[in-house]
Amino acid sequence: MRLFSINDLNFNEEDFLDNINEYEDIIPIIEELQNFLSYDEIECVGENECCNKTNKNYIVEIQGFIDGNDEFITKEELENNPTRAQGEIMDLFVIRLYKCVDCGKWIIDILE
Ligand SMILES: [Zn+2]
Repeated sequence: MRLFSINDLNFNEEDFLDNINEYEDIIPIIEELQNFLSYDEIECVGENECCNKTNKNYIVEIQGFIDGNDEFITKEELENNPTRAQGEIMDLFVIRLYKCVDCGKWIIDILE
């Protein structure tokens, strides 16, 4: 089942390498933003453990913050609406997707 697409890349539930239930708060955020996102290609150190065929990954990065109400807001939204952060503590929250260019398996990496 496809969860979301970013440009021509499909992110399917069955290709996700971790327990998707642990990311149930994150998936809707990506779903909502999918049409505004794009990906790059990067080389990682060592071959991807999913298939050991390549060290290349597609990467998608969503930079944002978590506000006092536990709501995610993208860096862009905040820049366009600076008063949104007034009097609030905004914690950095970066969502990264890595998808193997060979087998298509993917993971979510959160930076807090
Ligand atoms: Zn792979």
